[in-house]
Formats: sequence, C-alpha cells, structure tokens
Amino acid sequence: MTAKQGATPILRILATGGTIAGQRDATASGGYHAARRDVTQLLEAVPQLHGLPARIQAQQLLQKDSKDMDPQDWLAIATATWQALQDPQVTAVVITHGTDTLEETAWFLHRVLPAQHKPVVLVSAMRPADAPDADGPRNLYDGCVAALDGRFCGVVAVAAGEVHAAQYVQKVHPWALRAFSSGVVGPLGQIQGGAVTLHTAGPEHDAAMPAGGHAWLLQCAAERLPAPPVVGWLTSHAGFDARWLQALAGAGLDGLLVATTGNGTLHHNLEIALQQLARQTGLAIALTSRCAFGPINAAARARWTTLALPAAKARLEWQLQLWQRSWQAQQAGKAQ
Ligand code: ASP
Repeated sequence: MTAKQGATPILRILATGGTIAGQRDATASGGYHAARRDVTQLLEAVPQLHGLPARIQAQQLLQKDSKDMDPQDWLAIATATWQALQDPQVTAVVITHGTDTLEETAWFLHRVLPAQHKPVVLVSAMRPADAPDADGPRNLYDGCVAALDGRFCGVVAVAAGEVHAAQYVQKVHPWALRAFSSGVVGPLGQIQGGAVTLHTAGPEHDAAMPAGGHAWLLQCAAERLPAPPVVGWLTSHAGFDARWLQALAGAGLDGLLVATTGNGTLHHNLEIALQQLARQTGLAIALTSRCAFGPINAAARARWTTLALPAAKARLEWQLQLWQRSWQAQQAGKAQ
C-alpha cells in the first residue's frame, strides 16, 4: 500500500528508549543512563528531518534500556507498528531502540508482522544523546532516509551508515561506533550524505522462516494469549560440567536453546546430559551453532531440532515456536 495520491506520506516514529535516548551521568565518570530523553527531544536534535518529503508523527511507546526488553514489550512494539502500517497514509515506521537486543526485536518484528511492502526501520546509537559526538542524530536521519527510499521493505536496521536485514544483523562490538554486522552476507546498502547505495536486491530471508510466520500473535486477543514459554539458552564449551545441566532440570523451563560448538558438535558431557534431560523431562530442546555466522548442517544433527540463526535470534525463534504450540493446543482444547 502506498500513500493516497497527492497526500504527504507519513513517517511514524515509535520511540522505545536505548542509548539513542540516553543521557550522561553527571555524577559518574564516563557513565550514562539509557532511555532518558523523549521522542520530541530526539527529533529536535535532527533539524534536517524537516527537509524530508514526509510528515513525521512521533509516539513515545516505551522508555527502556533494551537489555530489559520482555515479550510484552515486543508485543507492544509489533502491535503499534502493525497499526501504523495499516494506515494507507503511513509510508514507513521508524523505531528508535537500544543496540543491545535490537537484533531480537528485529527478528520478532520480522516473524510477527504480516509480510508487507512498507519498511520498518530500527535505529539506535552507541553514544548517549548529549555526548558531544553523539551518533544518534545521524542514525535517526539515515533511518528516515532509508524508510523513505522506496527500495527497502520489511524489517531492517540502520546504524553507522549501513542498512542491515533483520535476518543477518547482529551486534558484534560492545562500544565501537560500527557495532553491527551482517557477517559474510554484508549490509543491504549504505547511506552517505542522505544518498542510499544498494548492495543487493533486498533481504533474502530463509524461506523456512518467512516474514509473518508468527502473525497469529497479532491476531490473538491479548486475554486469550497463553503466557510466553520460558526458554533458556546455554552454550557448549570446553570443560563442560554436566552438573550445570542437572541444575537446570528442576528449573521449570519450557524449552532450551543450546549453542553448539562448530557445526553442531557438543561436549560429550553435555551430549549425554541433554539426552537424559530430554528423555526424563520431555524438555523441548533446539540447537544452533555458537559460531557468530553460518547455519549448522541440520543433517549432521538429525535427532535434534536445529535453527539456522545466530543464538540470540534462535532462542527467540524457539520461544515463538513453543508459544505457537501452546496456543494451538489451547485452540484445539476449546474446539472439543
Ligand atoms: N543498553 C543500551 C540499550 O540497549 C545500549 C545501547 O542502546 O547502545 O538500550
């Protein structure tokens, strides 16, 4: 859907917090607090936005450090984004967000928003809004440029002059300005001086995990939605001690994502303990690789569910899949 003929397109900006809205801490040396400035202040810092061919509508949706995002926050972001996208005059949605778990929110939105042709752009910053060399204003401007460019659709992240697809974007550095990478696939494009250069034709999402695969979450009335399953994440490593897994057995988890070494390999103590745990408790277990990039060869691990995603996104995807199972079980129970 495009904006009505003749009407000025609307860019909806949803603010959720993060360092992009952060403020330095006057009492501590070098510290700052994320999620302090509101969306009006963020927009005031980017006067160039007035030159864009769109009317900006802004909303303060959340005010959080993204390290603390929870399923109800993801749902709030997805619901507000979907409502905005359904307005024919809204051309795109830009979401300001913390960098720490941006890739998880990107994945949630990719999987929950029904496939559509409008872009949803996540923007963030590595330096707080009142730092003399703050990167947030440029990222916000670039994000709006990408949103209006007309060549991106679906969920992307814009930071440090690069546009990344939701499937591949990962935070790979704790403090560098160029903190995001799409690994060997690389970014979709670059933005310099307000001009976009495309690198590839567009995001190539894994067909097995397409946009909107979990759109049921938006269709389900909030009061009917089962509680999100509790899904933990652990990593196989040299010197793995099985007592760690035994301790998990009584923790009441609904699911577990295990990040394997290399191409799906597990420390032998973990392999044995996992098989026992699955047999004794029926815990739903899925594997991905702890390597930053590249899927594990599923055939090599045929007895386990494998997910072709980096660990943070794989944990979330497993949570979504188990959530869907419990929703389907609830529906089937009602139908009887
Ligand atoms: N802790 C912050 C957050 O993710 C870090 C950042 O935004 O860069 O909200």
